[in-house]
Amino acid sequence: MSTILARILEKIERTRQQGRDPLIVFDLDGTIYNNAPRTLRILQEFAHQHAFEQPRLLNKIEQLAARDILYGVSDTLRSVGIDNESLLKQIQNFWFDRFFTNAYLLHDLPTEGAVEFVHRVYQAQAIPAYLTGRDAPNMLLGTIQTLQRDGFPVGTVDTRTILKPNFKIGDSAYKQSVVDHLRQAGDVVAVFDNEPGLCNLFLRAFPEAVVVRLDMPHAPNPESLLEDIIQIPHFAHLLRGQA
Ligand SMILES: [Mg+2]
Repeated sequence: MSTILARILEKIERTRQQGRDPLIVFDLDGTIYNNAPRTLRILQEFAHQHAFEQPRLLNKIEQLAARDILYGVSDTLRSVGIDNESLLKQIQNFWFDRFFTNAYLLHDLPTEGAVEFVHRVYQAQAIPAYLTGRDAPNMLLGTIQTLQRDGFPVGTVDTRTILKPNFKIGDSAYKQSVVDHLRQAGDVVAVFDNEPGLCNLFLRAFPEAVVVRLDMPHAPNPESLLEDIIQIPHFAHLLRGQA
């Protein structure tokens, strides 16, 4: 039985032979990027700036590592015993004002094997299409900067970087709206996302594509995953032929 990577490489080659562009859609947050360090940094800033009036908070936050960060900020804080509702609200607002900004994106780090995997398919002449729920007005510059810093192919004629034009558009509505454009731009041969509902959306839109869900934190109340979607812990798993 062939591996997922072999299946994807074969689809890339076949699409090229047909004179079409093979597109591979990569979500950013929770897929090729781990944004837990971004949240951790914001919590650390709050804790340090409020150390005098909240000494216990600083002590708790100092014990946190990126791996302890849960999807919701309040969930993370409650997990270390911070449960004062007005403090939680204050920290949530502090986080919200910073998390979706260029400056804080720089704390993100690529997930395991992501850089190598994107290069592997790029060398095989696939077109990486970074498709994210981040919004261009507030997050384009930091997105490009981190992609370039970390060695992802970006900014060239054979890559795509697609952000939302406006923060207020929902991620799911936005990704659905991009589907038709992708269809005209080439053949979507594979899609990687960490949100079960978005994986389902892409499999329905591109039934021929290999759709892979990264097993990373996701939004609450997820849809159940369609049967044909492959789940992996990280990209290194695919590079090692473990799926
Ligand atoms: Mg995501």
